[in-house]
Amino acid sequence: MTNSLASTAANNGASANVHGTEEDAFAEVNSRVLGASDFLDVPESTRQILCSCEREVTVSIPLSRDDGDRDILTGYRVQHSSARGPRKGGIRFHPSVDLNEVRALASLMTWKTSLIDVPFGGAKGGVRIEPRSLSDREAEELIRRWTRVMVHVLGPHRDIPAPDMGTDARTMAWLMDEFHRIEGFQPACVTGKPTALFGAEGREEATGRGVIAVTSAALTDLAGGPRNKTVAIQGFGNVGRFAALEAIAAGMRVVEISDVTGARRFAQGASIDDLAGFRQVSEIEAGEESDPDQTLFAAVDVLIPAALGGVITAANARNVRARVIVEAANQPVDGEADRIFGDGGVTVIPDILANSGGVLGSYFEWTQNIQEFKWPLETFRSELDKRLAAAYRAVSAETAHYNCDLRTGAFIVAVRRVVEALALRGQVL
Ligand code: GLU
Repeated sequence: MTNSLASTAANNGASANVHGTEEDAFAEVNSRVLGASDFLDVPESTRQILCSCEREVTVSIPLSRDDGDRDILTGYRVQHSSARGPRKGGIRFHPSVDLNEVRALASLMTWKTSLIDVPFGGAKGGVRIEPRSLSDREAEELIRRWTRVMVHVLGPHRDIPAPDMGTDARTMAWLMDEFHRIEGFQPACVTGKPTALFGAEGREEATGRGVIAVTSAALTDLAGGPRNKTVAIQGFGNVGRFAALEAIAAGMRVVEISDVTGARRFAQGASIDDLAGFRQVSEIEAGEESDPDQTLFAAVDVLIPAALGGVITAANARNVRARVIVEAANQPVDGEADRIFGDGGVTVIPDILANSGGVLGSYFEWTQNIQEFKWPLETFRSELDKRLAAAYRAVSAETAHYNCDLRTGAFIVAVRRVVEALALRGQVL
């Protein structure tokens, strides 16, 4: 999709619809927002606010490569909403990054932070680059330059970045250092930092842990609990890796895992020792070699796509055999596939609920930075589990009340809170 078409979707939410392709990511989020708005009778002018982004910054970032070349990269920060607090969301380094994708992800952050009821709005940033092509020095230069050009829209009470695909705790340490050079000491300016540098113990595992906290709550509600349920996980990064370990700890049988480096099958389910300490699937020796292209179609109870968006579409949804799909990634199931699952009685636990443990952990880190206080790991974990189980219950209650699917229920909770905040601020036209 061209940027001009994307901005039509951005500025005219009422006409947004689902086309079922990755390029329409923002239109797809807006169609969810509008679906929830129908249930809540949200006025037309307010819907337009919900389907637009408050601020979009696009920058050119010159980067000197180690071989002497100079690249001009494109970077973004999109701030979707500050209705409920400072904007919050990660920075993605990935070749798929474009304005439309960043808008979609920024909007999802607004709904995620609202759903778990933390005092943040939504934002997202990114740079269109293959992160594996960057040396450490290049990655450092890139994030420092990104920070320098974005600093005027960032800050602990304006917009707080965090890691996302292709960035990690070390990237956030460089970002914090650059921010401090310009604005002075403010560790709450970014979350997902290393624990030795104002990070919170528990944040790194928080998204994966949260995926399983929500999955366990849903399975207890719908299918007699998580014990012995078989799971396939696509993705072994910061989300999939910890989700696998947590799933095993919850008594589930992780029978299939994959990432870009390969796939492993464990007929009886992997043990913690089989997986702990590895950073990519090709390093794992236990289990048998398997086909990464088939992970999504494994004969399991629960499928957890924890890698890229847009992996399950109308073209392959009917081949999925799991009865429960947990969106650990952002937008892995597109609108068409979602409809197919709805018709077929397959439960989809939506991204804004399933992976919200990450930003919830970021909230804990941010509050600790502001209070200059440190929680023990056990407090972090138990607060995370408690709040995510409560978020699942809130979504499930809406779903029952409106007789809708979990995604619609989640958006109803999230949209209602944002609309209420906009009205109380006097920002509704
Ligand atoms: N990048 C993560 C997400 O998509 C975390 C964002 C944050 O912690 O601010 O939810």
